[in-house]
Amino acid sequence: MQQALMRTYGRLPVSFERGEGAWLWDEHGNRYLDALSGIAVCGLGHAHPAVTRAIQEQAARLLHTSNLYGIPLQERLAGDLCRLSGMERVFFCNSGAEANETAIKLARLWGHSRGVDVPTILVMENAFHGRTMAALTATGNRKAQQGFEPLVEGFLRIPFDDLDAVDLAAREHGNIVAVLVEPVQGEGGIRVPAPGYLQGLRERCDANGWLLMLDEVQTGIARTGAWFAFQHENLVPDVMSLAKGLGNGVPIGACLARGAAAELMQPGSHGTTFGGNPLATRAAQAVVDTVDRYALPHRAAELGERIRAGFRQRLEGVQGVRDIRGKGLMLGIELDRPCGELVKQALAARVLINVTAERVIRLLPPLILSDAEADDLVDRVATLISDFLGRSPGPGEAGGS
Ligand SMILES: *Cc1c(COP(=O)(O)O)cnc(C)c1O
Repeated sequence: MQQALMRTYGRLPVSFERGEGAWLWDEHGNRYLDALSGIAVCGLGHAHPAVTRAIQEQAARLLHTSNLYGIPLQERLAGDLCRLSGMERVFFCNSGAEANETAIKLARLWGHSRGVDVPTILVMENAFHGRTMAALTATGNRKAQQGFEPLVEGFLRIPFDDLDAVDLAAREHGNIVAVLVEPVQGEGGIRVPAPGYLQGLRERCDANGWLLMLDEVQTGIARTGAWFAFQHENLVPDVMSLAKGLGNGVPIGACLARGAAAELMQPGSHGTTFGGNPLATRAAQAVVDTVDRYALPHRAAELGERIRAGFRQRLEGVQGVRDIRGKGLMLGIELDRPCGELVKQALAARVLINVTAERVIRLLPPLILSDAEADDLVDRVATLISDFLGRSPGPGEAGGS
């Protein structure tokens, strides 16, 4: 009865009944290879026993009490996340957008504490930060913003991966208090910035007294081959947002902060009813423990190399393939033409993929893939792409002969 749902999504004509590891089964018993993990959420794959057990035990014990009371599971998870990231304090919420809203509110507190009346946050072209009003404003996609004006004040947009643009903004605007950026742009098309970009941002933030705020909602929790994507470089942010992979499907988000940024919130400043409840934090604890136990950051890096090498072997030099890129298990294959229809063709071939930024095939497979599953994935997706390129007109030929 889709008539009873708001028309927010263009859904594919399939629904799944059951999952296990990297596999999903639809209501007719067909099996699909999941190369998307519920959009980078189910990093441990579907129905991971450690997560299942944690949820079952916690559901039978205590689901929710509210943040009026102590929640030891929240404190333990926060401690582990801080130890792994070098951050100092955590605020738990329920989604990526909420984690970013928290970051944005921190930037404003930071600005006002320094006497800046209209604190302004530098954000990037093609960024994605979520759908709530301030996160939507920070998002660099006019289509997503269309119709929802007025947007929120206090943001200044510059090109991604462009340190000169940061310097120019610093010279021309006195109100900047923070930079909000994804270490690898996800929705924007798996865009990996040049080495040194994050460090360059760190230096400029230090020089100007700005907060460096990293949106690791998609990149965090081992996705890129490190616990957090910033750890590929030699820096630590002031603020970091997490969500997607943190709960393996149980909704949870987190905003982490360090130094002065960690001391800005006071009792009454900010809050949430559900955020960090015993069920969500217990599930996330099981995720963190499992990622740690099986050294999945390392495994994600290794699998990412293997898959990229596989694609290079199959697709490099193929007419129509522009780029094969990514970091860890955040993978993008850019074509020279729009390829949204590939998603449906992949579904028919029983593999779940995504296309973003019109012409970038995006793969976010679970971190628990076996080598054989990784090779199977490459084989299926490379075949789809070759077939698609063989059939569809190239950019110069569209509508032609
Ligand atoms: C998905 C995503 C968000 C939004 O997360 P929600 O849980 O959908 O609110 C924010 N930032 C990035 C980088 C994301 O990939």
